[in-house]
Amino acid sequence: MTSDILIIGGGAAGLMAAYGAGSALFRAGKTAQVTVLEKMPRPGRKIMITGKGRCNFTNVKSWNDFSRHIRTNPNVLRPAFYNLTPQALISLFAANGMRAVVERGDRAFPASYHASDVVDTLVRMAGKVGANLVQDASVDSIKYQENKKLYSVTCSNGKEYTARVLILATGGLSYPSTGSTGDGYAWAESFGHTLTECFPSLTALVPDGYKSAKAAGTDGPKHIDRSVPMEKMGKYLCGNKLKNCGLRLVIDGNTSEEEFGDVEFTDGGIEGPVVFQVSRKAVKALRNGSKVYLELDLKAGVRASELSARLSELWKAIRSDERSRGRSEKNLLTVLLGKLLPWDLVDGFLFCHPEILPAKKGRNGRFFEVDLAALAVALQRWKMDIAGYVGYERCVVTAGGVAMSEIDPKTLSSKKQENVFFCGELLDMDADTGGFNLHLAFSTGYLAGQSASERV
Ligand SMILES: Cc1cc2nc3c(=O)[nH]c(=O)nc-3n(C[C@H](O)[C@H](O)[C@H](O)COP(=O)(O)OP(=O)(O)OC[C@H]3O[C@@H](n4cnc5c(N)ncnc54)[C@H](O)[C@@H]3O)c2cc1C
Repeated sequence: MTSDILIIGGGAAGLMAAYGAGSALFRAGKTAQVTVLEKMPRPGRKIMITGKGRCNFTNVKSWNDFSRHIRTNPNVLRPAFYNLTPQALISLFAANGMRAVVERGDRAFPASYHASDVVDTLVRMAGKVGANLVQDASVDSIKYQENKKLYSVTCSNGKEYTARVLILATGGLSYPSTGSTGDGYAWAESFGHTLTECFPSLTALVPDGYKSAKAAGTDGPKHIDRSVPMEKMGKYLCGNKLKNCGLRLVIDGNTSEEEFGDVEFTDGGIEGPVVFQVSRKAVKALRNGSKVYLELDLKAGVRASELSARLSELWKAIRSDERSRGRSEKNLLTVLLGKLLPWDLVDGFLFCHPEILPAKKGRNGRFFEVDLAALAVALQRWKMDIAGYVGYERCVVTAGGVAMSEIDPKTLSSKKQENVFFCGELLDMDADTGGFNLHLAFSTGYLAGQSASERV
């Protein structure tokens, strides 16, 4: 089948590229065929799982604030951002039947809070401008016929497509079950592009002792697959969520980042918004062989002296309570911890901090005595050596990708191969959580589509 523009990948970037190309062609009064080839039986599989199924599709911050959340190459992405700003994206979706709501942190969601609305809207938009969406079309190979200036693309089902203009929108490597298996990297390399090393970002970190595997990775030496069984520490901590927690990332003895927010222990390790926030630096450091640890502050904002005084007061009250008579020191410590921590965390916290109840030698043999100073330190500086990280199987985004220096930022066309455009996570771009990644996929897709239409 012959097309004018062939888009490989029907995710956020690819579908928006189809709309960008189709609408620009329409405005220019050109008749041309735009085709999207999507590997999966349905398009936008990854969009369906974004924002826990609610899809935080953009963030309405101004460029100055938005760009601070982009971890690589923000300036290269500026033209794409201004070509489709968050407000323009919201208006575009609204004009196509999907209203949005903006929540805390300037994060925008579909008003229905259903990610499926975003996918349906994108598919509708692409269809409206005449783009042809082919599902179950997994591209196996791309060949360029120099003499004809034509790309021929072969799918695993044997079908062939040709086009003069190609847009690569195959995404990164995260959540391969959604179809994003990094296929575009090899094609980019075959066109002469350089790849910036890829690694998982916005991912769970695995504390030492949490999982049975030490370093088992397929995507890096410290990759500990989500499926690796938990050890005792993991079993104790898994399921606990901590609100308003301080978090410090320390790399080779130096504080690298400090955050404040929510933390979650899961079957993967430690995650949640603030851990995701520091995970990029942590993963990079682990892969480089650096020593990484996290320090949790469960009493953030409380002065150390205040906490010590409060602990002494509580401890005194517990010990002098009638009901404490005859109970073991460990038992009383559990009562104290119950007043300081979520109840489900108490056993895990104690397991991680044996120093709070050290064994001592007395006249009658061994006895245990609570060390309140050690408890105060444990509450505000809970140190966790990090053994590894959860990889592409469950990370939110892929850092690294097709080097931006070889792409024209104004058009997103390749500087290496004629009539090839790149967009979305395939590029060396990644950002924080909060709607930034999807916005980058949409805005680069839109720009790539519009620019491609000018080559028809
Ligand atoms: C769990 C999770 C939650 C997330 N939540 C958010 C959020 O709330 N907000 C946010 O901004 N970002 C979020 N993200 C990130 C965001 O989803 C991605 O950055 C974005 O989807 C990237 O878009 P893309 O089009 O570049 O790639 P993808 O969405 O990965 O799309 C690539 C498409 O290409 C197709 N494809 C791949 N290879 C081939 C091939 N050989 N032939 C044909 N088709 C192919 C794939 O099947 C896929 O459909 C989340 C990610 C995850 C994993």
